[in-house]
Amino acid sequence: MTEVKVNNFKACCDQFERAADKLGLDEKLSQSLMMPDRELAVEVPLTKDDGTLEVFRGYRIQHNNARGPFKGGIRYHQDVDLDEVRALASLMTWKTALVDIPYGGGKGGITVDPRSLSQRELERLSRTFFRRIGPVIGINKDIPAPDVNTNSQIMAWFMDEYSQHHGHSPAIVTGKPIDLGGSLGREAATGRGVFITIRETAKEFEMDLSESTAIIQGFGNVGSFAASFLHESGCKVVAVSDVTGGLYDPQGLDIPALREYARANRVIEGFARGKSVSNDELLNTGCDFLVPAALGGVIHKMNAGGLNCKFVIEAANGPTTPPADEILFEKKIVVMPDILTNAGGVTVSYFEWVQNLQQFRWEEDLVNEKLEHKMTTAYHEVNSLRKDKNVSFRTAAFMVAIDRVARTVKLRGF
Ligand code: NAD
Repeated sequence: MTEVKVNNFKACCDQFERAADKLGLDEKLSQSLMMPDRELAVEVPLTKDDGTLEVFRGYRIQHNNARGPFKGGIRYHQDVDLDEVRALASLMTWKTALVDIPYGGGKGGITVDPRSLSQRELERLSRTFFRRIGPVIGINKDIPAPDVNTNSQIMAWFMDEYSQHHGHSPAIVTGKPIDLGGSLGREAATGRGVFITIRETAKEFEMDLSESTAIIQGFGNVGSFAASFLHESGCKVVAVSDVTGGLYDPQGLDIPALREYARANRVIEGFARGKSVSNDELLNTGCDFLVPAALGGVIHKMNAGGLNCKFVIEAANGPTTPPADEILFEKKIVVMPDILTNAGGVTVSYFEWVQNLQQFRWEEDLVNEKLEHKMTTAYHEVNSLRKDKNVSFRTAAFMVAIDRVARTVKLRGF
């Protein structure tokens, strides 16, 4: 994929400011809401299996907790830096407010390529990181979760590490294995929410999903579940990609078989059906719904002009840069913003936390029903404000979220 260096936090601030202006938000309050409350950078030493020492950099950024404890995932990736984590933390503040759950926004990460580590090294690194951020987290303070390259096993190690010092504490992280207090429905929740967003968009723009096509970049947790739900709805998923490249079939890919293959091989490379395409080609291929579900900044000013879709459905966080957003607007491509599209994950994380606090497990149908309600409510709030104020879905989503956070901040005393 063509790499373009993106200033992620500035991009978030631009989106924030556009919406804050429309709301007529007080300038001082606006400045305060934009900046993170607290930024923690830690050193994470790791003794490798061969006895050598390597030191990594880790972060936990707490953006805003006016509406509830800080909430957000932990990312393991070689490109993680302070700017990216800051941006992702602020997106969490607006996302949790948009779906109206009692959380603030936070995010964390380690600058590491986890593929270079053994399983034992990954466990030691994860435990050390969690101890290092220990002073700022807590079940009513800050509740981490998985993100890119972290999963339920890593959450289990986090939970165990914390519980050794604080007593049995499943509510300290979400996205845990079911056996340790994870919620039924959490694994599929973000992809399900992405699908709900596409389904509601199809209704709004009078499209028949069973006659539509979709392309998905990224075939991990979010992309693969979104692909499954789309496939089940009758929508043709004509191309998908992952870090190894893409596959294209104009008749629609066999998503259940591809998921099975990816589960066994961890990548889609080598799957017998579909024509090979690069990630760059994939973005330019014609479809109704283009779903970036991998990393941020992949749609930028150098490639936005070449997009050939009707809708960009932002399943990843921050996949479209502000200059690209403007190009897409001129091309009349509608963008469904990340803070709405991928909010299903944190919504079910919230349900998981509630179940842990209640020490009571909900049936999967109940989880999915409540997720459906949260997602559709948020979608229709954003859509009606968008029409009322004649703004983009993104600006409307930020307006709903900022208004909620600003009201809480004022009530608590600014
Ligand atoms: P994941 O690690 O499970 O999957 C990431 C996928 O992206 C993999 O298929 C990987 O091969 C692919 N990928 C990585 N680099 C790529 C590249 N350069 N080109 C193409 N594909 C590439 O991660 P995930 O949990 O599915 O998260 C994906 C995105 O969704 C991230 O932006 C994340 O912040 C966001 N998100 C995730 C959740 C969640 O619940 N997991 C919730 C909200 C938002």
